[in-house]
Order: sequence, then C-alpha cells, then structure tokens
Amino acid sequence: MLDQGLLKEFKCAGCGDCCRWTGAVLLTNHDITTLANHLKLAEPDFIEIHTRLASNRIQLALLDKPDGSCFFLDGDQCGIYTARPEQCRSFPHAWRVPEGCPALDELREV
Ligand code: SF4
Repeated sequence: MLDQGLLKEFKCAGCGDCCRWTGAVLLTNHDITTLANHLKLAEPDFIEIHTRLASNRIQLALLDKPDGSCFFLDGDQCGIYTARPEQCRSFPHAWRVPEGCPALDELREV
C-alpha cells in the first residue's frame, strides 16, 4: 500500500500510463454485468469478445492489445471510463505502485 499522506495529495494526470502497464485487469462479477450493459452486449458475448482467463485460473481479465495496453485505452483516455472495472477505480489507492505513475513520482520527489 502507498503512504496515505501521499495519496491524499494524488491527482491523476490523465496520461493513461497505468493502462499501458503489463498485467491483468481482473474482473468481478459486478464488473462483467456493468461492462456488458455499457457495451450493450449479452454477458456471454462480452465474456467471449473482451475477456480471457487470468493466470490465477479463477478470474476473467480484460483482453489486452498486442502491445500489452488495455483494449479499451483510446489514446490516453479510458474508452469505458464510466463503466470501468473496480480494479481501475481503485488506482492508486489499493495498488502497490513502486514507480511509473508520473503524478505519484512527482509527489514522491516533493
Ligand atoms: S478499463 Fe479503462 S481505466 Fe481500466 S485499464 Fe482499461 S483503459 Fe485503463
């Protein structure tokens, strides 16, 4: 977990870098329902088109683009922002982020 004092000062710079990191955006059941509704897809179709089995073999994860960034990253913006998964909503508060987020890196330097 990150230092709570730092997190109070955190303001996302909107660069989209965290959506380019390799790794899995794990989905909850609620995420799947929300995203399927948002994309106007039946849940089985959403699962078929947009997810893969995560390496923990018990959860689904969003598919990535070939470069490892999130499929839904559009330029520097999340293309599904209002319906984004819980894991994305919890950034950076519930994440271990050693480095790579410009907004957090700047706070660490102050
Ligand atoms: S769903 Fe949106 S916020 Fe989450 S990784 Fe993908 S582009 Fe980023």
